[in-house]
Amino acid sequence: MSEPTGNVILKSGRDKSVRNRHPRLFSGAIKEIIGHPKDGDVVDVTDNRGAWLARGIINQQAQIAVRLMTWNPAEGLDDALWSERIQQAISARARDPQLAGTNAQRLIFSESDGLPGLIADNYDGHIVVQISTLAASNMRGVTISALAAAAQPKVIYERADEERLKHERVSPGGGLVLGRQLEDNHPIEIHERNVHYLVNVIGGGQKTGFYLDQRTNRAAVARYAGRGGSMLNTFSYTGGFALHAAMLGAGRVVNIDSSADALDVAQQNFVLNQMLGNTHATEMEFVCADVFDDLRQRRDRGEQFDVVVLDPPKFAHNPSQVDRAARAYKDLNRLGLALVRPGGVLATFSCSGVIDALLFQKILFSASIEAQRDARIVERLTQASDHPVLLSFPESEYLKGLICRVS
Ligand code: SAH
Repeated sequence: MSEPTGNVILKSGRDKSVRNRHPRLFSGAIKEIIGHPKDGDVVDVTDNRGAWLARGIINQQAQIAVRLMTWNPAEGLDDALWSERIQQAISARARDPQLAGTNAQRLIFSESDGLPGLIADNYDGHIVVQISTLAASNMRGVTISALAAAAQPKVIYERADEERLKHERVSPGGGLVLGRQLEDNHPIEIHERNVHYLVNVIGGGQKTGFYLDQRTNRAAVARYAGRGGSMLNTFSYTGGFALHAAMLGAGRVVNIDSSADALDVAQQNFVLNQMLGNTHATEMEFVCADVFDDLRQRRDRGEQFDVVVLDPPKFAHNPSQVDRAARAYKDLNRLGLALVRPGGVLATFSCSGVIDALLFQKILFSASIEAQRDARIVERLTQASDHPVLLSFPESEYLKGLICRVS
C-alpha cells in the first residue's frame, strides 16, 4: 500500500454508503476508473462531481471492488497505518474489562477494526491469522511483524479462508509463519474464567479453533440449568455450554454434534475440568448424530429438559439463502421448544448475519405457534466484545441469541 494510483468515480446517487463510511464499495456503484490502478493498489474515491470521499484498496476481480479504509484525505494507506491499526486493535482488547479472565481472544475483527479481510485469534500466545481479501493478503508481512511486536506470541499460524479468497481471485497461503511447529495436533489449553478447554489450533483434518464469540453467552445460559438441572446442548462442538453448566452443578447434560472429533475433544475437556475440580457430579452424555434427526426421536419419546441450547452453524451465507435458512431455523426451534419442560428455558442462536434480530425473533414466533408453546424473551444475547460491531458496518453484527422461558 502507498500512494493512490487511480481515481474511482461513483455513479450519481451511489455515494451515500461511502459518505456513511461503509467499508465496502461494490462494483455496481462505479461509473469510471481514472488511471490504471492494479489490483491491490490504493485508490481515491470521488462522487459524480469529483468531490473526494474516501480512500481504499481496489480489486477489480472482486464484487467488492474497493475496500475503503479512510475517510480522511490526509491519511495515507501505507504499512504504518496497517500496523498502527493492528496495535490499536490489540490494545483495545487488553483494556477491555470483559476480556479479563481469559487467555483466548479475537485480537482483530476485520472491518470492525479497520482492517478489511484480516482476522486474528489468540489462544494463549498462539495466534491464528485468517486472510480473506487481496488487501489483507498483500499486507501479510506487515501483519506478521505488527502482531509479533504488539502481542509477542509464541507462534503465528495462517489459516487461509479459501472460500472467500476465491471471490477475490487470490491464491491462499497458510501454515506456520512464526515460531516453532507444535507437535502433531498438540492442543492448546485455554480458559474462560474457570472453565478450561483444549483447542486444536491447526489440526490435520480435525476440527480446529474455538467459538470465541459465544464466550459470555455460555456463562449466561448455564445459569438457567442451575444445580441439578438438565441441559440438552445441541451443536455442542467441544462442549462450551455444557462445561459451564457442569461447573454450576447441572445434573445431566446431553451433547449432540455430528462431528466425532469435536465430541472427542468435548469429552477430553470434561475430564480436564473434572481433574481441575471445576465440575460437580454432572452426568455428561455425548451423542454423535444429526441434531434434526436426534431431536425428532427425543420429541417422539417425550423427553424433556430444563434448558435446551440450539447453537447451529451458519444456515444462510448470503441474501439468496435467507428463505431456506429461515425454514431450517423454524424447524429446529419447533423441535427444540417441544423438548423444553414447561417452565424451562430455550436458548437459541443464529450466527447468520443476513438474518437480522427482528427476523430471527419472527422465526422463533412462528416456531412457537407450530409447537403450540408460549415463550417469553428473558434475555437477548449477542457476540462477545472482542467481535465489536462497527456502527457504520451493521453487517458486522451477526450473532443473535434469545433466552426464552417456555410454558
Ligand atoms: N456451541 C458450540 C459451537 C457450535 S458450532 C460452542 O459453544 O463452542 C456448530 C457445530 O455444529 C459444529 O461442531 C458442527 O460439527 C455441528 N453441526 C453442524 N451441522 C450439524 C448437524 N446437522 N447435526 C449435528 N451437528 C451439526
